[in-house]
Amino acid sequence: MNQSSSINVCKEGDNTVEELEPPSCLAREVDKGKEAFLFPELIQFPLKKRFNFPHSRKSIAFYQKYFPFSDEEQWSDWNWQLANSITSLEELKKITSLQDEELLFLENNSRLLPLRITPYYASLLDYENPADPLRKAVIPSRSELEISPEEEADPLHEDSMQVAPGLIHRYPDRVLFLVTTFCASYCRYCTRSRLVGEHNRCHLSHWQWDQAIKYIEEHNEVRDVLISGGDPLTMSDHTLEYLLKKISAISHVEMVRIGTKVPVVLPQRITPKLISILKKFRPLYISIHFTHPSEITPETTYACEKLADAGIPLGSQTVLLKGINDRPEVMKSLMQKLLKIRVKPYYIYQCDLIPGSAHFRTSVQQGLEIIASLRGFTSGYAVPHYVIDAPGGGGKIPLLPDYLQEYENGVATLRNYEGKIYHYYEPGR
Ligand code: SF4
Repeated sequence: MNQSSSINVCKEGDNTVEELEPPSCLAREVDKGKEAFLFPELIQFPLKKRFNFPHSRKSIAFYQKYFPFSDEEQWSDWNWQLANSITSLEELKKITSLQDEELLFLENNSRLLPLRITPYYASLLDYENPADPLRKAVIPSRSELEISPEEEADPLHEDSMQVAPGLIHRYPDRVLFLVTTFCASYCRYCTRSRLVGEHNRCHLSHWQWDQAIKYIEEHNEVRDVLISGGDPLTMSDHTLEYLLKKISAISHVEMVRIGTKVPVVLPQRITPKLISILKKFRPLYISIHFTHPSEITPETTYACEKLADAGIPLGSQTVLLKGINDRPEVMKSLMQKLLKIRVKPYYIYQCDLIPGSAHFRTSVQQGLEIIASLRGFTSGYAVPHYVIDAPGGGGKIPLLPDYLQEYENGVATLRNYEGKIYHYYEPGR
């Protein structure tokens, strides 16, 4: 495996792009740069790009308290955010007192999905409230060690559908391309916790990417490529542009999608430069992973609006999580707020059967009740598809409350959102 980080030059037509190899994502760079309060002894990470970004009062109060040697400009820099992410128990303890069950995990389990929280996302947590939904989403607890019999590392059997490194071909006309193993923050319920976060490094090499791209080139039926990971928007501008160029140059690829949580946990990454790159590749869709209405801040709003202004269609994906977003009013608030920032609610997923996920998983009935609480009670645009990604690799299966009560002899007996019964008559019955 080629893990070199040497500089390549990628030539396409008249454009010459100086390009870092794919594995040289920021993960390697960020380890050097801890500074300010958490690591006062280390050298400050050099700023690569200055960019003004809006700040909520909460964010300002947070960095003034915990990063007193930094300033607004640094806080607005996504490289600074990655360099100063919270990745250890010691750092976390400086920000909040930890409960026993959190300590138990963090002290003993370096092998599992690591801890990583950007300072920005950390500023959103309510440290006075042990049941804070955002805290549960990113701070590990002992419950992750409790493995149920139905759980497995790869519940969707993606590995068995891997046709080239990082490339999953499950559905007829589209592929999932896992291009990095690094994320800005790690979600404790991550479906791909078996892959992401190992040593906080990116693992895919240029050679591996080329094999995946070759497979796509050789399969004319692939018209849709979903780039995911890990989080693709943690890669450098050059690396991302390299990848998008390679994929978009394949004539039968009609659309590209990017799955990301970056606008939520690292909105500072949505820079004018990044937008200028993304705008070049059309049609390009972005699916953003949102979890809770508290994530919709001035910063995230700004990032999503910049992407929407650039003409990039935005959709949301949300995992249904116990104690985090499993109440109908919470989910409704999230869906309505998403529409306000021009993100179309797309999917609510039942939490996958990954190891140690029982404390996050709700009943299917709760998911159905949430959909029933949305449909008819708010704009149709605010109602996503509720799906279970079938364990064993069956793909996404949509679930709906029981609106079709009976269907016989050309007559459909229907229940509306208020519980009233109606009939639809087919012609020639
Ligand atoms: S951002 Fe996505 S890939 Fe990364 S940890 Fe969260 S759910 Fe997993």
